[in-house]
Amino acid sequence: MKTIASALALALSLAAPAHASPGDAADAKAMLMRGIGFATVQARGQVPAYAEWLKARLVAGGFAADSITITPLGETARLHLVWKGSGKRPPLALAGHMDVVEADPKDWTRDPFTAVEDAGFVFGRGASDNKFDLTMIVATLLALKAEGFRPARDIHLFLSGDEEISGATAALQAAEAKAAGVDLLLNGDSGGGLVDDAGKPIFYTLSGAEKSYADYALTVTDPGGHSSRPTATNAIATLAAATAKIAAYRFPAEISDITRASLRDAGTKTGGPLGAAMLAFVANPADAAAIASLRASPDTVGQIGTTCVPTMVKGGHAPNALPQKAELNVNCRIFPGISIETVRAELEKVVADPAVKVTVAGDFHSAPPSPLRPDVVAAVTKAVAAARPGVVPVPGMDAGASDSLFYRAAGIPSYGVSGLMMRGQDVFIHGLNERVPVAAIAPALVHWRVLITEMAK
Ligand SMILES: [Zn+2]
Repeated sequence: MKTIASALALALSLAAPAHASPGDAADAKAMLMRGIGFATVQARGQVPAYAEWLKARLVAGGFAADSITITPLGETARLHLVWKGSGKRPPLALAGHMDVVEADPKDWTRDPFTAVEDAGFVFGRGASDNKFDLTMIVATLLALKAEGFRPARDIHLFLSGDEEISGATAALQAAEAKAAGVDLLLNGDSGGGLVDDAGKPIFYTLSGAEKSYADYALTVTDPGGHSSRPTATNAIATLAAATAKIAAYRFPAEISDITRASLRDAGTKTGGPLGAAMLAFVANPADAAAIASLRASPDTVGQIGTTCVPTMVKGGHAPNALPQKAELNVNCRIFPGISIETVRAELEKVVADPAVKVTVAGDFHSAPPSPLRPDVVAAVTKAVAAARPGVVPVPGMDAGASDSLFYRAAGIPSYGVSGLMMRGQDVFIHGLNERVPVAAIAPALVHWRVLITEMAK
């Protein structure tokens, strides 16, 4: 096991110019840049090639070929590595995703699928989401293997292949993890933190919960007819009335252990009227004035409950015909622990009109928040402090969902523990000219090394 002191010594040695060997920053950067070169966007069939390349790296680093399984699913694939431990404790799982969001080279300054190092950054689609942490995890496992580290529990590495779309590979992996008796999951795809212009850390978020995403369809149908002969009912007018009700509705305020901790911390740091509202809400989650203030800010409205908004509308088929159909999409971000069906039923109640059909528009999943386990909090606290001295992680809830959703739904506590900390203005996840600072690599390696050794010692 590495102590914090030796991890710090490692950080210092990583800062020095290095030739590439397992676990050093130069090797990890090279792996990251090579990984970006696989255009692992949906439908290009590059995920299996990337998975094979990762497997070859792991095998070259001493992992048995038969401990790594790559399973295709359509044009994509998932990768599963099992590093057998002594079995002293139940298995631990690590996760990341190999796929990336589409990027149009016409819009980028550089080719998104050719990694470029420039001005202290590595540019390329996936440079941060999620090839950064995926690479840091793989590099750390290779380094630990090379050093003869012997985990006290099985370590499972689950790399999914369609996180940015359906999450079908992660759903299968969550079932595999459950069957393998996995105790908890550490996901590199959420959590992490921000630094200021001087590189000084501002905060680190340990993500213990995610809101789930769901779309609902509100549909009104009508016999229609000629527009010169209006009838008592009109599909567009009926839908418009329902739309107004949904837009005006506020779901009940909610709080969990995670949001209580994050709002308390943010309230103290934010100060002013908004900070005071956060603290008042923590003290009394029924405080109507605090709830109103938090709902008025786009930064906090999503933290205190489920939100639903009308996002798309279509209706009618000709300028001179009574509409036969009108349809609204309502997009909801659901507070952890509340089911997709509960929200559907609530929307139906809000609309209160049998002429409006409310249905779930897709295959969506919800999951409970993960408990703030002391072993995880302690290990993440050590890892963050080793990588960025002086920073204390604060639990948080993500507004969007990752693969962790499937593991939580399967009953496996899951934590977003990215090793990446960078400036807010450099974050271009899913956007143009995605990049990571080269200087973020060495601390991320310290982060993952301390975290994995703490959890598997
Ligand atoms: Zn991601």
